[in-house]
Amino acid sequence: MLMDLHTHSSYSDGKNTPEEMIQTAIELGYEGVAVTDHVWRTSAWVPDYAEHLEQLKTNFRGLIRVYSGIEAKVLTLDGDIDANVSFLPLVDLVLGSFHRIPRPQGFYSKTNDAHISRNVIVEHWFESFCRMLDNPQVDIIAHPLSELKEFGIESRQLPIKELVDLIGVSGKILEINVRYNSLDEPIIRVAAEQGIPTLVSSDSHSVADMVKNSVFVKELSNRGFQTIDIERYIRNKKASQK
Ligand SMILES: [Zn+2]
Ligand SMILES: [Zn+2]
Repeated sequence: MLMDLHTHSSYSDGKNTPEEMIQTAIELGYEGVAVTDHVWRTSAWVPDYAEHLEQLKTNFRGLIRVYSGIEAKVLTLDGDIDANVSFLPLVDLVLGSFHRIPRPQGFYSKTNDAHISRNVIVEHWFESFCRMLDNPQVDIIAHPLSELKEFGIESRQLPIKELVDLIGVSGKILEINVRYNSLDEPIIRVAAEQGIPTLVSSDSHSVADMVKNSVFVKELSNRGFQTIDIERYIRNKKASQK
């Protein structure tokens, strides 16, 4: 299925409404689209947002499959994410992402913290990554390496094979994010070799973004990097939650 399951709307920091994003996905020839706005634990608008997306599933039926989602950042070394547990049953997909690297006691490392060694940052990142893989709230591991690049840490400095094996065991989906990933990255090659379920997404924040990014989404999908059966994944997940 040609789809884009990581997009943002005006409910968070996107420029367009969910309707405009979905309409664009239809025009691009996608068969599925998810709106996955950024949330915080305190985002009181999530129930209304989820209800709105349920309505859009009905409105766009027969034209495209609409999925509801949220994107929440990892907060702590324990792999907790910035989403209220009450949000989870309201949406189809939860993206867990690294927007910051957690440190002990609820702090984050900053790129200008010159005194923190790169090894320590990788250790903290690895610990929160592994714990997030155990977190049943999370479905999709979104752009897991992007934040490390901000610290000048390249993926060849990371235990990629071990990481990919851990994702495989966890049953979670690895996102290939066209904003952050290029095809020569080891994580993509290793994930393909290991048969890890992967999802190609654009992380678009506007209609214009979605159009521009669709070139890469389509290319990567055509090359076989879209391996997840998302319908089956969501069905199984909902059955196990009952
Ligand atoms: Zn993100
Ligand atoms: Zn995003």
